[in-house]
Amino acid sequence: MEVIMAKYGEIALKGLNRSSFEDLLVRNIKRRLAPLGDFDVSRRQSTVFIKPLSENVDLDIAVNKLCKVFGIAAVQRSAVLPKKMDEIIKLGIPYLKNTLENAGTFKVEAKRSDKSFPLTSPQIQQELGGALSDAYPHLITDVHNPDITVLLEIRDKGAYLNAEKIPAAGGMPVGSNGNALLLLSGGIDSPVAAFMMAKRGLRVDAIHFQSPPYTSERALMKVESLCEKLTDYCGDIRFYCVPFTEIQEALRDNCSGDYFTVIMRRLMLKIANRFCAAKHYGALITGESVGQVASQTLAAIGCTDEAAGYPVLRPLVGMDKKEIVEIARKIETFETSILPYEDCCTVFTPKHPKTKPILEDVIKEEKNFDFAPLIEKAVSNTRIKDFKLGGKN
Ligand code: ATP
Ligand code: MG
Repeated sequence: MEVIMAKYGEIALKGLNRSSFEDLLVRNIKRRLAPLGDFDVSRRQSTVFIKPLSENVDLDIAVNKLCKVFGIAAVQRSAVLPKKMDEIIKLGIPYLKNTLENAGTFKVEAKRSDKSFPLTSPQIQQELGGALSDAYPHLITDVHNPDITVLLEIRDKGAYLNAEKIPAAGGMPVGSNGNALLLLSGGIDSPVAAFMMAKRGLRVDAIHFQSPPYTSERALMKVESLCEKLTDYCGDIRFYCVPFTEIQEALRDNCSGDYFTVIMRRLMLKIANRFCAAKHYGALITGESVGQVASQTLAAIGCTDEAAGYPVLRPLVGMDKKEIVEIARKIETFETSILPYEDCCTVFTPKHPKTKPILEDVIKEEKNFDFAPLIEKAVSNTRIKDFKLGGKN
């Protein structure tokens, strides 16, 4: 029989709260695997054990999915063997065939949490190492930097043998650190920002501002497909789509073009504030990075923040575009993000926005028009759509 063992990452540090973190991780794992079949998911000794309950479960797919569950540092697919050294050797040699045939050097590491097992860890290492060397004579033992580490764990319920520790997403279980609302555009950055904050244990929902007919239906579909992709890491995402056209037109017609961008961003935040208050999000998240564009100078960020009623988390703030793109590729949002559809941010944008806006001037300019009724209208006409984890499986 085979099981998957998921090793905790940072949860292990959580002291008193530990067991609620672990329960949350187990729940997240169950939900993630539910579309694949029946599993028994239980935790013992800093490890979550995932045991398939039906024959036809594809463990490769399960491993793949588990590698995207935040809170898991590494995943191991293991054989569960009887706790007898000769049985372990007899069954272990063929079990490790594929891996060991393709390796040059190896070592055996033994961990014995069941102290009633008659051999000590060094003895286990010696016996199993010797038997594997005999069975695969091309293998060279290298205790310092081996290609493959064969791990044998003698635990209460059996001996677990594996040869590969697959690094997983790390971070903390989604939902362990509260809820936040992501300002999601169709660009490269904001999906990466969602990934990074979900990694820190936030449950993330998304708000998107749309300006039809200046922005097309396809632009919206692109953002929705980003949401769907993000569920792989973030779990369920509630998506708020705010009609922003009237506000942008009013802004164009009533305020100086120099301030268009900064006021527009303030208005986005004022609308986002409303959803935070109503739905209890503890923070906003954006994909901004200092200096990337005119609205992301320190002065502009300061003027924008003044309109936010909640902390604005900017996980990309110190990252280069190249680093952001690397993550976007890894989480598979990049190809969608670069589809060439317009965003409302590029509608009516002046050629030379102020890079050093002064807050008093911005507020004065903003007062040229009473946006409150339009904000009210936009909030009440917002469409909600839920993207469910695993919805596309
Ligand atoms: P991105 O790649 O995320 O679009 P960007 O580099 O294009 O970012 P901006 O267009 O200035 O930068 O947007 C900065 C941030 O503002 C975005 O990361 C996103 O969080 C938010 N944002 C921009 N446009 C929208 C929109 N239409 N709806 C919701 N949020 C938006
Ligand atoms: Mg953008």
